[in-house]
Amino acid sequence: MKISKTYDWRGEDFRYDATCEHCGYMITNKEGKDDFHLYNQVIPSMVCPNCNRSSSLQPTDEPLPPIAPEHDPNITI
Ligand SMILES: [Zn+2]
Repeated sequence: MKISKTYDWRGEDFRYDATCEHCGYMITNKEGKDDFHLYNQVIPSMVCPNCNRSSSLQPTDEPLPPIAPEHDPNITI
């Protein structure tokens, strides 16, 4: 998963929406803390409830489609 939007900041704590790179599934209103661990370990290893994949877990049975870069003004990190 990757963070697609953050909001409700209270100091280091915030809420965020995360989107699956593989299928586009979105998780909303998750609680997070503004630190390296969340961005680099928690979010990439979060398993998508729709396709059961994470960013760090690459499927071995089929190639991944290329991820197109896109500009999202809501991304704040
Ligand atoms: Zn997914």
